[in-house]
Amino acid sequence: MRDRQNKQTGCLECGEELQYLEHDEEMKCSYCELDFISNVKCVWGHYICDDCHAYDAVEVIRNVCLSTKSVNPVLIAQRLFEHPSVKMHGPEHHYLVPAALLAAAKNTDGDSMNLKQALKVAEHRSANILGGFCGFYGCCGAAIGTGIFISAYTQATPLSKEGWSNANLMTSKSLEKIARLGGPRCCKRDTLLAIETAIDFFEEKYHVQLEKEEKIHCSHSDQNKECITVNCPYFNH
Ligand SMILES: [Zn+2]
Ligand SMILES: [Zn+2]
Repeated sequence: MRDRQNKQTGCLECGEELQYLEHDEEMKCSYCELDFISNVKCVWGHYICDDCHAYDAVEVIRNVCLSTKSVNPVLIAQRLFEHPSVKMHGPEHHYLVPAALLAAAKNTDGDSMNLKQALKVAEHRSANILGGFCGFYGCCGAAIGTGIFISAYTQATPLSKEGWSNANLMTSKSLEKIARLGGPRCCKRDTLLAIETAIDFFEEKYHVQLEKEEKIHCSHSDQNKECITVNCPYFNH
């Protein structure tokens, strides 16, 4: 069912055929979770709004993270993994990590947080982390994404004291987890490791508990020819 080829013409969620209804219905977009009036959905009832259909990876990450009410950054990330514009591997994950964490933090405890502004900051900064940063520069972009999360959350600058310290500590903790598991890179594994590390660090330093997933199952191993299978904590046995 989850055939990426079919998503070129069929449902963006499951690849199945689209149905055109005689009458308009109220439908919830399965990406941005906003309500729309439409007359098209797939045979399984999935509806994806025009914007979520057309957006590229950065746009869909921004859009979904702005509208989601989820307090679970892993589920937000996994939702975004399913969008066809988010490739198996690629630098869009460097933005996806801080965006999912900022959205979950805002939905958990962030009445005072300007999420739109924080996402803009994260988008701008993550755009400078090139693809392949992990292997070429020795610093995985998903790990830097958690540092961007803490920096944006605390509005840290190079002159800050605590925010500066915590942003760098955050990156180092994610990076160690990612590095110790070994290569080759997998943007899905490294994103999930980074987010899980950030949830614990965020609770420890800022006493805000984001929702955790007890057991994370990867749904992308068959699309990753370098998958480390049983050596990956998320491999689906
Ligand atoms: Zn569908
Ligand atoms: Zn949408």
